[in-house]
Amino acid sequence: MSMEAFFSPRSVAVVGASREKGKVGHEILASIVRGGYEGKIFPVNPKAADVEGIPCHPDLKSIGETPDLVVIVVPARVVPMVMEECAAVGAKAVVVITAGFKEVGDDGKALENRILGIAKRAGIRMIGPNCLGVMVPSHKLNASFGGDLPVPGGIAYLSQSGALLAAILDLANANGIGFSKLVSIGNKADVDELDLIRAFGQDPETKVIAGYLESITHGNAFVREAEGISAEKPILLMKSGGTGAGAAAASSHTGSLAGGETAYEAVFERAGIVRCSSIKEQFDHAQAFAQQPLPEGDRVAVITNAGGPGIMAADAIERQGLTFATLAEDTEARLAEGLPAAANIHNPIDVLGDALADRYELALDIALDDPNIDVVLVLLTPQAMTECAATAEAIVRVSKAKPGKPVLAAFMGARQVGEGIQALRQGGIPQYDSPEAAVATIRVMANYVRWRARPKRVVRLFPVNRRRVERIIDRYLRRHLREIGEMESKEILEAYGFVTPKGSLATTAEQAESIAEQLGYPVVMKIWSPDIVHKSDVGGVKVGLRKASDVRDAFDLMMYRIPKKMPEADILGVLVQEMCSTGQEVILGMNRDPRFGPLMMFGMGGIMVEVLKDVSFYLAPLTAQEARQMLKNTRTYQMLRGVRGQEGVDIDAVAEGLQRLSQLVTEFPQIQEMDINPYVVGLVGTSPIAVDARISVEGSAD
Ligand code: ADP
Ligand code: MG
Repeated sequence: MSMEAFFSPRSVAVVGASREKGKVGHEILASIVRGGYEGKIFPVNPKAADVEGIPCHPDLKSIGETPDLVVIVVPARVVPMVMEECAAVGAKAVVVITAGFKEVGDDGKALENRILGIAKRAGIRMIGPNCLGVMVPSHKLNASFGGDLPVPGGIAYLSQSGALLAAILDLANANGIGFSKLVSIGNKADVDELDLIRAFGQDPETKVIAGYLESITHGNAFVREAEGISAEKPILLMKSGGTGAGAAAASSHTGSLAGGETAYEAVFERAGIVRCSSIKEQFDHAQAFAQQPLPEGDRVAVITNAGGPGIMAADAIERQGLTFATLAEDTEARLAEGLPAAANIHNPIDVLGDALADRYELALDIALDDPNIDVVLVLLTPQAMTECAATAEAIVRVSKAKPGKPVLAAFMGARQVGEGIQALRQGGIPQYDSPEAAVATIRVMANYVRWRARPKRVVRLFPVNRRRVERIIDRYLRRHLREIGEMESKEILEAYGFVTPKGSLATTAEQAESIAEQLGYPVVMKIWSPDIVHKSDVGGVKVGLRKASDVRDAFDLMMYRIPKKMPEADILGVLVQEMCSTGQEVILGMNRDPRFGPLMMFGMGGIMVEVLKDVSFYLAPLTAQEARQMLKNTRTYQMLRGVRGQEGVDIDAVAEGLQRLSQLVTEFPQIQEMDINPYVVGLVGTSPIAVDARISVEGSAD
């Protein structure tokens, strides 16, 4: 069923409507009436004759017709009975305002499951329980107790917190911000963020989807849906709380670095969702998206009546990585002709402190014609002669006449610019309290435009040996072992096209020596034990051994010292390995998020990973472009490219390694976490080497 009945019902019943002012059951009905709802209203209350002057019905049945929307405000224990009634009269859309469900513990959870079960069986869609309700300004529907109905507009809002929605409403109403729909999803027992972004995505009234979420229920479906919707309209989310994934139990580097939030960061990035950290930031962005066209590029021109704010804006533009527009010659000539001689005709265009509305009008009109400008930011400080309101009206007029490019304003101050700000808002020009805030929004718009223009995602599939990996993993799972040892981890990697160092296991010093002779010096020796996760930590790695006596000594020393340090560890011998002498050490890894699936990691490798934390994450499967972007998101990238005359390493080979790893973990959901550390990368044309690897698996062998 679509969400239509929630958003444009022809009739609404309020079960639990109360005569007592201040009670939620009264407030909801009063809100519906006060909002000017034009459909039929049915208060339901067996103990009252009428509420707010509207005759009451003792129950849903006695209404005699099926209300499109039913709002339930009765005490929690009575809700199941009312839900049964909803089913009996054939209601299809129900909002349960009542609290006292999942949020209060196990009994509440059981009660919630009961009403959900009734709803599901009857094909009822339910919003809530424990929510504030639904508002649709264009339909004059305020089925909530959140506050007054805001004006109609292009922003749809969904909130997992009712209280926050009340705060947003208050702020929005004070500033005249318009909405298409507002929904408080409460415990989201049935209707959740996925249903709503889908409905908002299809809603012609909605230009921007904004919301506050504490959790995302259907991880993968949400990412897919959001990615599709973001191609049409922006999604701006505030998100609090982590996924709680991995971190504590993690044995890999990737697992310990992938905190709960990293998955969300990666998801938002993948789906083109703009993450906001405050209500203010969210509405700063939302208004621009709702009211202005998208910029074609990131070249910003500034018009100002004061030098200081112009410089602040220029600084912010540079800091945010936007382009400070260079005006076309023709633009400067026209500005020189129309403005006083003292005015600055270069960006930032300074119309001077004594500018009246006409100079702003002229400058904006000329700027909007300039092919070198994508966005115009108009700044104003209230000086002696400034005409705040008239200037605002002029800005509105010009931007309406030339609607192709976004125009944003920052009228700075409070009381003196108040009327001007009012006029800007009414005219659909987003207003910011500082140049920085406006520039932050411009950056978000430019990023969004870039995200939309990104190339189509194509995931490359490498020819691999899946059977070989399957056999190893099955063998481990059958024995109920989680950690795959280094030798077999490397076998898995080889099956996916990775190169690993040659070497074998020695159980005596003599054997170690003969392996070393065969490999050729220098060699590396590593303690070999399923119980030792980080070998260097216990002195279990010796590199750069150049002769037979070094090898024998290293063997004896390890076999003597390590069992003392770790008496419990089962030590099988020492691995003698060829030494990769040149190259930089990076780490490639994966941690499987319970909701969103494999989360890939790239970063600075070696034994300092956790200390330096120079890592980046992205969701698998990776495209070549995404893999390269992961590299670029780290400082390590600069090193890989070569600093101070050093030759860079083969960056494409690293990106390819990430893609191969992404294929491996996508094809084997049994792999829970893994990393290759170090992955030693050399000059272009040489193969990177997976020197050390760790893989842990979970699941049942069948
Ligand atoms: P662990 O991570 O368990 O301590 P590693 O096998 O990763 O053990 O070895 C630790 C460090 O020793 C690596 O980060 C790398 O700097 C170095 N190293 C290990 N093996 C080799 C090798 N074959 N060639 C070059 N350097 C190596
Ligand atoms: Mg290592």
